[in-house]
Amino acid sequence: MSTDISPPSIETAAIEWREGVPCSTRFDDVYFSRDDGLEEARHVFIRHNRLAERFARVPAGGSFAIAETGFGTGLNFLAAWQTWEASGPADNACLHFISAERYPLDREDLRQALSLWPELGDYAAQLLDQYPPPVQGAHRLVLAAGRIRLTLFFGDVLEAWRELDFHADAWFLDGFAPAKNPDMWEQAAITALRRHSRPGTTMATFTAVGEVRRLLTNAGFTMRKTPGFGRKLEMMAGELPRVPEAGGHESPTAPHSIAIIGAGVAGSLLARNLAQRGVEVTLIDRAADAGMAASGNCQGALYVKLGVEFNDQAKLGLSSLLFSQRYYAQSGDHCWHPTGLIQLAYSDTEAVRQARFIARNDYPQAVLRPIDATEASRLAGIPVNSDGLWFPLSGWLEPGRLCRSLVRHSRIRHCFGFDVHRLTPCNGRWHIAGNGEQDVVADRVVICAGHLTPELIPLRSEFRFRTIRGQVSHLPEPSLNNPAVVLCGPGYINPAHKGTALTGATFDLHDHSPALSVESHRENLSMLASMVPSVFSGPAMQLDPALLEGKVAFRCTTHDYQPVAGPLTDPAGRTLEGIDLFTGLGSKGLTYAPLLAEYLADRITGQPQCLPASLARRVATQRCHRRDASASETIGA
Ligand code: SAM
Repeated sequence: MSTDISPPSIETAAIEWREGVPCSTRFDDVYFSRDDGLEEARHVFIRHNRLAERFARVPAGGSFAIAETGFGTGLNFLAAWQTWEASGPADNACLHFISAERYPLDREDLRQALSLWPELGDYAAQLLDQYPPPVQGAHRLVLAAGRIRLTLFFGDVLEAWRELDFHADAWFLDGFAPAKNPDMWEQAAITALRRHSRPGTTMATFTAVGEVRRLLTNAGFTMRKTPGFGRKLEMMAGELPRVPEAGGHESPTAPHSIAIIGAGVAGSLLARNLAQRGVEVTLIDRAADAGMAASGNCQGALYVKLGVEFNDQAKLGLSSLLFSQRYYAQSGDHCWHPTGLIQLAYSDTEAVRQARFIARNDYPQAVLRPIDATEASRLAGIPVNSDGLWFPLSGWLEPGRLCRSLVRHSRIRHCFGFDVHRLTPCNGRWHIAGNGEQDVVADRVVICAGHLTPELIPLRSEFRFRTIRGQVSHLPEPSLNNPAVVLCGPGYINPAHKGTALTGATFDLHDHSPALSVESHRENLSMLASMVPSVFSGPAMQLDPALLEGKVAFRCTTHDYQPVAGPLTDPAGRTLEGIDLFTGLGSKGLTYAPLLAEYLADRITGQPQCLPASLARRVATQRCHRRDASASETIGA
């Protein structure tokens, strides 16, 4: 039953309704019991993992991780979510649900299947709202204001367990029947499952097949048969015994205190994310408030250029784009304007690149699709000369406002107007000295200081960061043919807001002047005139560059233009305790930062990670040391 679908798309489930329940025609099996799917989920998975009592014991700021083979309709997930809410876990505790699914249901099938359970209606609506398009790889959904985190891996279960970093407290083994779906129950799958289990991990499955029991027992689980649900006589439940001397992964603990240096979009998102998970955060910035430097523009486009090859770089860009679209859509800060965005084929070279990109990849239409100049003009509401790619769920943000709204939280202490001079490790904590009277002391520190990051890294090593000046120009609305959507090409223009449309930005590798320059305004106007001449009601040069307002900021980019997020390592690859970097976002911070903040918050709190291992490697700090740096350099005084 193979299809011609290419990455990043994934083949969806083939569903047929039989006797009122969804069945897979591919596997010739039902998704849940004909007797009562929800009661079956509760009987088999919720009760036999003793979830209600275990959820109630999760401490404030703690977490609990359930892993599942086969997400299917999400019924088990919603049943677990409902139990979590009913069991009253402590404040800021988070339920992680990690599920692998090789053939995701499409949204309409999912909606239809979940409409069978009116009592789960509120949960189902939230899931449907965020349910990802059928794109391969890991999708993190943050639900119920962060009380629930769903990591949905669209791909084979073995790949999921190879790529994802987590330790489960409970397992739901819910492939189709072993005879019909042997891949889900083979030795390799059970071995991987054991690797992802903690001492004391429990598991339950509807099947009582002897071979499955034998594999699980060999893997170290104590298994027992017990009465099944409905017409099933037997099911199995089990537990991995606690043998302290055997080691293993105990439940995670978050740091008590964390200092974040830099209150731009990266630092503000991370601060908010950690605070929401119960961590006390001190947010430090030399400016008087958050979002004043490179993240302080009044407008910023949510955009990433996806490569022709669907490699790790493209995967990271796509995952970041999809996560950030979900994140901003539910942020409720009114800083997000989902107008849609067109990436214009503004030159012959770019037109050829886009043609190859479309020929080589299958992107679901909900993510992006090619459009011709006529459709581009219709969407933009002004004449557009080029074809392009349409990103219907993208748009633009007010980054400065967003930062300031994110950092207003009872667990975020502001330490603004504090210019950090030095970081020193002392007795397992970090002392942060600056122009303040007292050092800030924290268990852990994350440097999110954009282009100033290299100065703060407490290592005598050179990093391959580059500072690139960017000037944006504020165009007065009356002088424009205002586009209804964001238009991107060599630069970009946003739809006007409160009388001004932001365009830019220059890319000045050798100019480090913080002052606005008329030459940069001129450059922006001429870029825009060549990209979408119709934006100007009259000739472009009628706008006097000398009279324009704008903003200069400094991007921090890396040698490979990919972001950096993760523990600081020295040139030899040794990790420094309790210090992370989060920078190198270039001009794509709005797109990358929400997912990378989620990833860092996962790591810092010891919770299941949203980034697959291959993408975590892509953003690791180690790649940013200069190659000639000596491996003997360590923490510098
Ligand atoms: N837990 C689901 C629910 O709550 O609706 C029902 C799961 S259904 C019984 C089994 C699921 O396993 C199907 O959705 C199927 O597509 C998926 N599956 C089968 N083989 C797989 C594989 N090798 N890797 C990942 N998922 C697979």
